[in-house]
Amino acid sequence: MQNKEIVLISGPSGVGKKTVIESLFELTDKLKISISATTRKPRVGEVNGKDYWFMTKSGFEEKIQKNEFLEWAEVAGNYYGTPLENIDIARKEKRYLLLELDVKGGLTVMKNFNGSVISFFIVPPVFSDLKKRLMKRATESEEQIDLRLKIAKVELLFKDRYDFRIENCVPKKAAKKIFDMLGEMK
Ligand code: 5GP
Repeated sequence: MQNKEIVLISGPSGVGKKTVIESLFELTDKLKISISATTRKPRVGEVNGKDYWFMTKSGFEEKIQKNEFLEWAEVAGNYYGTPLENIDIARKEKRYLLLELDVKGGLTVMKNFNGSVISFFIVPPVFSDLKKRLMKRATESEEQIDLRLKIAKVELLFKDRYDFRIENCVPKKAAKKIFDMLGEMK
């Protein structure tokens, strides 16, 4: 992890990124999660400032104009973005900033922070698992699930742009693999 300050995790919707990240946090305290801003409506149980900073579309667009995002993207009809200040917060705490981003955001970060990023792409063992997970999660409409699956197919085409591909059969094992690859953070 020398000279690295950003740990980037991407992967299709429904692959279980959040669970893998939760397991990763049980293994190390060297990571600082980046709380993104979004215009998506909160899901049941999601908390403002913990899961996301939930914003209006106009509020988000104002922040884009003021260059207040490290990166941002429109995903499945909603805006998502990483507040620029998150990198400073992590630096001050001497921790690595953990970004969980869609592929577009991921590629932007890899380009703009080339050399400072270690990147992981979480892949499903089989594609059909994604639909099962999204249906089970039941947080999106059928239309939204179809849209997310279409996006997932495109996102999977970019997996080789990432440093490591991690199959998520068992989240704890996937997290351990990431932890091991982060090497000297042990
Ligand atoms: P969800 O609505 O399921 O929470 O997230 C949808 C997608 O947006 C996921 O692929 C997630 O990784 C991505 N995402 C979350 N936060 C950000 C962000 O700040 N920037 C970008 N580019 N993507 C994000």
